[in-house]
Amino acid sequence: MNDLFKTPIEYLKGVGPKKAELLRKEIGVGTFKDLLYYFPFRYVDRSSFQTIDALLTADGPVQIRGRIVGIQEVGHGRNKRLNATFQDHTGSINLVWFKGVSWVRSSLKVNEEIVIYGRLKAYGGKWSMPHPEIIRPEEINSGLQAIYSSTEKLSANGLHSKGIEKLVGELLQSNFTFTENLPPEIVSEYRLPDEKKALLQIHQPNSIEEAKHARFRFKLQELLLLQMELLLRKIISSQKLGGHRFEVVGDHFNTFYKTHLKYDLTNAQKRVLKEIRADVNSGHHMNRLVQGDVGSGKTLVALLAMLIALDNGFQAALIAPTEILAQQHYESISNELKELHIGVALLTGSTKKKEREEIHQGLLDGSIDMLIGTHALLEKTVQFKDLGLVVIDEQHRFGVAQRARMWKKNQVPPHVLIMTATPIPRTLAMTFYGDLDVSVIDELPPGRKPVTTIHSFDSGRLKVFGFIRDEIAKGRQVYIVYPLISESETLDLNNLMDGYEAISRAFPLPDYSVSMVHGKMKPEEKEFEMNRFVKGETQIMVATTVIEVGVNVPNASVMIIESAERFGLSQLHQLRGRVGRGAEKSYCILMTGDKLSKESEKRIQTMVHTNDGFKIAEVDLKLRGPGDIMGTQQSGLMNLRIADLTKDGPIVSMAREHAIRILQEDPNLNSVDHTWLRRKLVHILKTKPDWGKIA
Ligand code: ADP
Ligand code: MG
Repeated sequence: MNDLFKTPIEYLKGVGPKKAELLRKEIGVGTFKDLLYYFPFRYVDRSSFQTIDALLTADGPVQIRGRIVGIQEVGHGRNKRLNATFQDHTGSINLVWFKGVSWVRSSLKVNEEIVIYGRLKAYGGKWSMPHPEIIRPEEINSGLQAIYSSTEKLSANGLHSKGIEKLVGELLQSNFTFTENLPPEIVSEYRLPDEKKALLQIHQPNSIEEAKHARFRFKLQELLLLQMELLLRKIISSQKLGGHRFEVVGDHFNTFYKTHLKYDLTNAQKRVLKEIRADVNSGHHMNRLVQGDVGSGKTLVALLAMLIALDNGFQAALIAPTEILAQQHYESISNELKELHIGVALLTGSTKKKEREEIHQGLLDGSIDMLIGTHALLEKTVQFKDLGLVVIDEQHRFGVAQRARMWKKNQVPPHVLIMTATPIPRTLAMTFYGDLDVSVIDELPPGRKPVTTIHSFDSGRLKVFGFIRDEIAKGRQVYIVYPLISESETLDLNNLMDGYEAISRAFPLPDYSVSMVHGKMKPEEKEFEMNRFVKGETQIMVATTVIEVGVNVPNASVMIIESAERFGLSQLHQLRGRVGRGAEKSYCILMTGDKLSKESEKRIQTMVHTNDGFKIAEVDLKLRGPGDIMGTQQSGLMNLRIADLTKDGPIVSMAREHAIRILQEDPNLNSVDHTWLRRKLVHILKTKPDWGKIA
């Protein structure tokens, strides 16, 4: 790379110190190179125009060539507005400005030929265009115009998209020299333009195809680097980090498997268990993710893996995302293990001081073999005699840094098994979990019938109540779940209480009895109410999302979700997973208000049409974006400039395949074809400290 790239941006013609400062602060552009790689996010075809008589819908932006024939200021003070009549040879529309009225007015010339670009709104039976972009015909030189994202401050200083476009144009005149970064076989396989050409084509394309291909080059480059980074981390961690060897499968495992397990493992469970066993007996450190839909039996796999750790003289820990879930895991596991003489303890934020101290002691002297708990487990004061395996349930709420904290609980880091009930699309898993090995439990235990999902508007409530009565008459039980609506717990509680009262009125004693569980209850109360429902003493369970994870009542066959439009897809899917666990046909009814946003509608329809957690995850990803799903902390680490994990799945796969091949052929990246990759990767691995610790 030559020095021209490193030149501070203020030396570019048209920039200067003030704009340079803004560019740096607002969009992180500090050098010539930064600006060259500040890519447009879309292109507008400046060569095609619509005519006013043919404007049919208000979807998407339109571009029209014509002239302003009249200008009028209306209103006063803050309500001041500028109206202009714009005409082409087929008709006229209104242009309107609510801001910068005097400035706009002074810049508009009546009867001059211009091009306007913007979105339409129907107003009073006529098309109107608020805040159109105004372009003089002589400014339209090429067919395609690149659009750059700008900020309010930049725009106020002349650096709106067009201003940035000009600067980039200026910069592209400079004489940069490039060497090819990508391995030659990749360049030739996809017939990629070289970097210099690609930069020209991404900023000033002659056609959309050209722009797309140039973008493809940069996306592939970015994703290749990322995949290589992730693979290297995985290789480094498994090679450099020794792991405890779990050589035997002993009494705990065998006794449990042969005499206490009430059913056969599914083939998927067996396969995943085999993968885990191979890992923990390899002498290397295990870092494995188990993905499996709700109810696929992940907990059992985790339990069996923990028994293997115990059989080899190690302790094991299980971390759950919520206190309720930790409690439930504790209860079901200590119950299942009660004849095996295993020391199991529960540690959460609400464990009393005295008990906590006893647990700390038990962990140190080894009388506790298995610790189940919440994040409280991560605290430094929690020390083990010899921790061999950590299971993390519901990984998506767990950051990389937290994972790293568990590693420090033993001199040789314990093996890590992560269970996630939120299936992640494959290409996303490749990226977010690219440093992990991934197992998939893609099979539900036998006898599960798919849950039928129905959407009902609030107006259909009476019918739904009738359905509930019918199901209860057949001996089934029903969940009714209310959303967390506001930040205020009191308000949420009121909402739940109102619901509880309405339900109690519609389903009165002595024919019916209703349980209620919410996050504000004391653990004993919660347990008492939960138990009444589990034992079948109550037929209806009114709850907040505290029952989202884990709860298991096979006789419950109906899940009613109130204000379902307020829930995210993965939450809806989790809730639905609470039913369909017994032999009976089960139903999930999504209650919503009459008016739904496009996005809510899409979520509800997705739920109605599929039970497949992976498909749901795909839709969720498209609707929310990876940052929301994985937590910004993790997506921030990705720091992608042009690739979009939600849309570029196929390129992620390509990059992954190439990364694997390159590392197989040239593990140390010594070949001259890999000089760039090597230099970049060395730098990246050095400068991301959090990940460095893990790797
Ligand atoms: P997950 O954690 O994957 O959502 P769980 O581990 O809670 O699922 O299992 C759901 C239910 O299925 C539990 O009641 C569990 O006992 C049961 N189960 C697990 N594995 C099997 C199996 N192989 N056959 C029958 N039932 C199973
Ligand atoms: Mg589970």
